[in-house]
Amino acid sequence: MTTNKPTDAYFLDTVLTHAGNDPQNFHGFVNPPVVHASTVLFPDVETMEGGKKRYYYGRRGTPTSDALEEAIRQMEGAKGVKLANSGLNAVALACLSCLKAGDHILIADTAYGPTRHFADTVLPKYGIEVTYYDPAVGGGIKSLFQPNTAAVFTEAPGSLTFEMQDIPAIAEAARTIGATVLMDNTWASPLFCKPLDLGVDLSIQAGTKYIVGHSDTMMGTVAASEKAWPALEALHGALGVHVAPDDVYLALRGLRTLSVRLERHMRSSLEIATWLEARDDVSRVHYPALESDPGHAIWKRDFTGACGLFAFDFKAGTTKEQSTAFFNALTLFGLGYSWGGYESLAIPVHLKGARTATTPDSSVVSGRLHIGLEDPRDLKADLDAAFKAAFG
Ligand SMILES: *Cc1c(COP(=O)(O)O)cnc(C)c1O
Repeated sequence: MTTNKPTDAYFLDTVLTHAGNDPQNFHGFVNPPVVHASTVLFPDVETMEGGKKRYYYGRRGTPTSDALEEAIRQMEGAKGVKLANSGLNAVALACLSCLKAGDHILIADTAYGPTRHFADTVLPKYGIEVTYYDPAVGGGIKSLFQPNTAAVFTEAPGSLTFEMQDIPAIAEAARTIGATVLMDNTWASPLFCKPLDLGVDLSIQAGTKYIVGHSDTMMGTVAASEKAWPALEALHGALGVHVAPDDVYLALRGLRTLSVRLERHMRSSLEIATWLEARDDVSRVHYPALESDPGHAIWKRDFTGACGLFAFDFKAGTTKEQSTAFFNALTLFGLGYSWGGYESLAIPVHLKGARTATTPDSSVVSGRLHIGLEDPRDLKADLDAAFKAAFG
């Protein structure tokens, strides 16, 4: 922000609107320039070798990347933020920054599928041991600690099944052994949950989702506490992670409207989730913002809002054919991966092989919805027609 007031003097929506912009340094233009750069020129050898210039090579930051990192840093209340090429890249970067050969990491069983794939295929190659844990463990995570446990990875709510986690209890336990706590906070975004305030050291965002918000760019962010920042900054530089300036700009542009978009995503999602819950062709809705959800109390304590993503179980006895007929009949909801854009999406949920520390009920047939910014009356009509196509 350009005023001299400290960030915490403003409410979050105000920070979101102004953080990272510096108009007086760019001729008064409201937004930062999109700097396309590799080489930066120095006026003389003394300056070149003096090491005092903020900008010295495109890979190591530009006014464009600084603007987005600073905006997210202020929102997350972090020591520093680094941008990554995708959400998954941010997960990998954060994990590698706090682990070394011989270490052990505990990962929530409900972590995003590709996070598990990274942990299963890459970490063991570098001598890092991985254990999955029941996300409901809370402070009981202590019993899973080993002498070499260096990190605990959390994600709330969980991927596909939306279980909440008691992050403060887990963080408290991890602190007793000096382990780093990571949280994939993509669902809540930095607007509805501030992981660092809950005791987390590395807060991860798939910026691809709500920060970008328009289904047109891939991006990840990692926000670090004082303790976790030096290692994150060093690894980011050593690996040469770099996000292209046009993508950084789109993310910054998306960020400015995060609050108004999420408010509508949440309102429409509550309306549709409640409507689904009351239907005979649905047995359960998995959305922590609903009072009926087992994670509701934790959600209410730790989060200030909910996004547009949730799952539902079809009524008992639903077949794979009926579920397929449902998804094929949708016309407004697109069939597609990812979420967080302005448009509604749906996917069938398959948990086979996706969990190893818990045992999902394999007789339950489920789907996941992303509620976009369309009029919820049209979305309900679309879902209603799909239920009729599935069940008659
Ligand atoms: C999508 C997603 C990611 C990965 O983000 P990409 O930008 O697609 O790589 C990570 N975590 C969660 C929870 C996600 O939904």
